[in-house]
Amino acid sequence: MIGGTSRLEGYRDCQVCAVEEKMRARRCHYCIGQLGLRELMYLEIKKRRRRRVAPYLSALVPGLGHWYSGRRYVGTYFFLMAPLSFGLAIATYQRWNWGIAVMILSMALVWLIAMVDSRKGPYYFAPPCQISCPGDVACSRYVHLAAEGKDLEALELVEAVCPFPGTIGRICHHPCETDCNRSKDGEAVAICALKRFVDDHSQRSSNFYLREIERDSVSLGKRVAVVGAGPSGLSAAVFLRVLGFDVTLFDAMKMGGGTPTMFAPGYRLPRAVYAREVDRILETGIEQRFGEILGADFTLQDLQNEGFSGVYLALGAMRSVKLPHTGDRSQGFLDGREFLAEVIKGDIQELPGDVLVIGGGNVAMDVARSAIRCRADNVRIICLEKRPEPRERQYHHDGNEWTEIKPLETGEFMPAWPWEIEDTVEEGVEIIDSGATISFAVEDGRVVQAECQEVLRVDTDDQGRLIPVLRDGSSFAVKADWVITAVGSSPDYTALGGPPAMLSVREEVPLVLLPSLDGMSIPVLAGGDFVRGPASVIEGISAGREAAMYLYQRIMGDPDLSIRFRRRIIFRPWSNYADSHDRRMRRKQVVNASGRARKTFDEVYLGFEKRVAREEADRCIRCDWPLVRESKVRRYVRSLREGGSDDRESAGG
Ligand code: SF4
Ligand code: SF4
Repeated sequence: MIGGTSRLEGYRDCQVCAVEEKMRARRCHYCIGQLGLRELMYLEIKKRRRRRVAPYLSALVPGLGHWYSGRRYVGTYFFLMAPLSFGLAIATYQRWNWGIAVMILSMALVWLIAMVDSRKGPYYFAPPCQISCPGDVACSRYVHLAAEGKDLEALELVEAVCPFPGTIGRICHHPCETDCNRSKDGEAVAICALKRFVDDHSQRSSNFYLREIERDSVSLGKRVAVVGAGPSGLSAAVFLRVLGFDVTLFDAMKMGGGTPTMFAPGYRLPRAVYAREVDRILETGIEQRFGEILGADFTLQDLQNEGFSGVYLALGAMRSVKLPHTGDRSQGFLDGREFLAEVIKGDIQELPGDVLVIGGGNVAMDVARSAIRCRADNVRIICLEKRPEPRERQYHHDGNEWTEIKPLETGEFMPAWPWEIEDTVEEGVEIIDSGATISFAVEDGRVVQAECQEVLRVDTDDQGRLIPVLRDGSSFAVKADWVITAVGSSPDYTALGGPPAMLSVREEVPLVLLPSLDGMSIPVLAGGDFVRGPASVIEGISAGREAAMYLYQRIMGDPDLSIRFRRRIIFRPWSNYADSHDRRMRRKQVVNASGRARKTFDEVYLGFEKRVAREEADRCIRCDWPLVRESKVRRYVRSLREGGSDDRESAGG
């Protein structure tokens, strides 16, 4: 056993101990869980600032940027390396010659590397799951807390960055699982479903955000307007409240919630789950001005005149893309998003006849599965792209290396997530991939048939639009009493007088500054789908949180918190983590088989049972503890070389 103590690991991402308050004693190393959410955000704001400033300092003196951002050993190394190479050149070659030139060049190289490397900022070792998560959720830590039965602590760790754990635990596309190290020797840890598990099973006694706001109440006396009450806007609003701003939330609809409220079908996301999370945010003292439309009822200039110090636009991508060769509603042509909204409201309950859905994205899958539940006779999806391989990524092991095997790049693949496609097919939807509708036959004012053709390949034009190349002589017909178009949506920039200039604020998340809006002197940020077009919910949530921190720094400057970074080292014995066959296999969620069979809108996946969840969480090998990870991979590789069986407890002890 490698010594150490688990006490050092705080559920609120213990900084061991990066934080000290000005004029007050340095925080204790064992302040487990005592770091408030506001302080954590202050810490992140300062980290971002240090990352921005560090390269400039390293340009002045190599290594200075590293010192500033807390990596002192690395900084000292660079500080010594540059003059050393110069001094060595002088000492070795007294007169100018090529030797001196080479040494000076290497000094310049060291200088340059010091500048680039200092951008990394403070030392922080994140596991691959966390690096892949657009929301920067500390996956390995909450999974581990779930394994230990600390569900509430796990939940609060998620809530520190994502105010929608129940929603995200059901609908996230979980790139974290794609990159999970477990998937290299078996199946990825069910990181997403475990988030839902801790949300379902935690005994909450209070509103987490309200408690954090009241815990050390601060009012900055500044107002911020958030326009758009979807996941991104709500996320920005709650984190702005945590930071101490007075927040006013605008939305064109009469209620908050945005896209998931309007378009997410109940079999994927029960309305009550999302509504509870929205209400929890609205309870934090956010002024609500619902039913007011930007561009019609107020302008950005009005917000500035009203005394707001900053604006965040999270208006989503609400304009559906139309296909020119389709007809109107009376003929049986529907828009996919309108159809979903009407199904959710209960305006459409039955859709008799044959339904043809056009599109290969996630919305098309939702439309098709909803049509099945509206008792359509046959539901087919037609899309330009090919169906993807069933498994997104596979790995090949050779010697000591894991190599990723990608599906053959023979053409464009359907943009829907592979598991959504599999579920859709399982429910009885037929997918006609590599196909395009050319025209529609209409009889007595109703569509009866789609004329289609096979797609040879899909090209894109310079604006990113898909241009199908059709195979000659490959026409076919598909019976259709309803044609529902779900080929994407785009942001509506009408209220801003057209697409604005956008200055990226953070590369990793869709968040931009709109720098040249007429007459505006306050910062106006835009984020989420409004910037990048329809993307994942977690990206929108992340953009909202980043917007809150960016606005804080623009309006208030640096937070009043001094930090000293230290290397964070936690030792743990690896003997707890045996690579048995059982541990490589992912546990299954309970499936509502009767609901699926009866084609109801009841939720299909019902989450983990308690015991199964603990087992699943215990499969995580804690890649954020480097010693653990290295030993695990090496031991597993050795067991393969020695021809050991899959069941071998390769990490015994
Ligand atoms: S095994 Fe655990 S820590 Fe490692 S990538 Fe997967 S979830 Fe993350
Ligand atoms: S938010 Fe999504 S990507 Fe991030 S950890 Fe959760 S499931 Fe994974």
